[in-house]
Amino acid sequence: MKKIFVINAGSSSLKFQLLDMPQENSIISGIFEHIGAGTMQFKWTSYRQKESVILPLCTHQEAVDYLLTYIVEKQFVNSLDEIDGVGHRVVHGGELFTHAVCITDDVMQKIENLSFLAPSHNPVNIMGIKAFSHALPKSQQVAVFDTAFHHTLMPEYYTYPLPAVYRERYALRKYGFHGISHHYIGQQVAELMRAQGEWRDDLKVISCHLGNGASICAMRNGQSINTSMGLTPLAGLMMGTRSGDIDPSILPFLMKEEQLSIDDMTDILNKQSGLLAVSQISHDVRHIQEAYFNGDADAVLAISMFVNRIAQTIASSLIDLGGLDVLVFTAGIGENSVLIRQLVIEKLACLGLFVNSSANEQGQVFIHNEKSCAKIAVIPTNEEIMIAQETLAILSAI
Ligand code: ADP
Repeated sequence: MKKIFVINAGSSSLKFQLLDMPQENSIISGIFEHIGAGTMQFKWTSYRQKESVILPLCTHQEAVDYLLTYIVEKQFVNSLDEIDGVGHRVVHGGELFTHAVCITDDVMQKIENLSFLAPSHNPVNIMGIKAFSHALPKSQQVAVFDTAFHHTLMPEYYTYPLPAVYRERYALRKYGFHGISHHYIGQQVAELMRAQGEWRDDLKVISCHLGNGASICAMRNGQSINTSMGLTPLAGLMMGTRSGDIDPSILPFLMKEEQLSIDDMTDILNKQSGLLAVSQISHDVRHIQEAYFNGDADAVLAISMFVNRIAQTIASSLIDLGGLDVLVFTAGIGENSVLIRQLVIEKLACLGLFVNSSANEQGQVFIHNEKSCAKIAVIPTNEEIMIAQETLAILSAI
């Protein structure tokens, strides 16, 4: 048995989970929020307790040091030497990292060099890695990349129709994200189908990860064939605050007319667009749904646009796969919004996909009806378990 920490470091937050592997038992999980603001909030849950406190701490390193002292004091571990490995979610692995790897100085340098592709993610991931390497020098640090699962995409899916000189100079191509989640969903579907005696090695699955960030992945035989995000997580579906795909000419037009800087434009596309911009209410589907049911025109438009883009992307994924066995909804919206699932599936009737509305409302695993040409499932994602599994595999191979 091994104890593995799973770490997801963001610019102002640090999510963690300590697990016993391979049993997948969570010992403690939680989050530090408002890092950098002067005081931070520390929330955690274990099987026996829940707590939330404000701490007079500022940096990622201080949060990590606090956490490691805390778990010994509270006897979640007897000593830090019990922690065998730390699995870090790293957002961008570029073309260099197609699998999880042990972190060495060389790997750190390469992750740092890839920061130009993910400036708001890779530098903070490195901060998390440095903080844990410093505090736990005896534990093996492992990097698990959100892009790696999509390394199986063929050139016809990952190439942008731009001049070769720029593509080559800047490694411009579709990388795709949410790979850890889509990989986990692929495994869960395979297990579900095995349990039903319906597993085949060319299983065609479309995974819809619908959270604040949202992406769709077409998978065959457990491998990524195509996915909706691109060089960055801004591409593809309309999201909570991200525009997703829009006519690229809008960028130079707006920048010129409004005298916007590159940073202004990047902020508009990533933080001021999507569901928030259209609904003019919130980025959160729960709030938009309330207004939708009250007939608010902007909420109706936002939900319709969100649903249309999802349905269109499912349809194009179906073409990429040449068929479909299982359509999956996952992440915050996919797991919880009866309305979004219902509307998306209703749009797909022309492709032979049909919802069982009462199964959908009751939160059952399978929500298709007997007429549907493919199964439709709601499966909770668990990126932490996937990272812990990949970290364990690396530790076991050393
Ligand atoms: P993240 O991308 O931040 O990990 P999550 O997968 O946690 O996001 O999804 C968060 C989003 O899920 C919320 O912003 C909200 O839009 C949506 N959500 C959560 N619960 C519900 C619910 N009960 N009904 C509808 N939407 C929900």
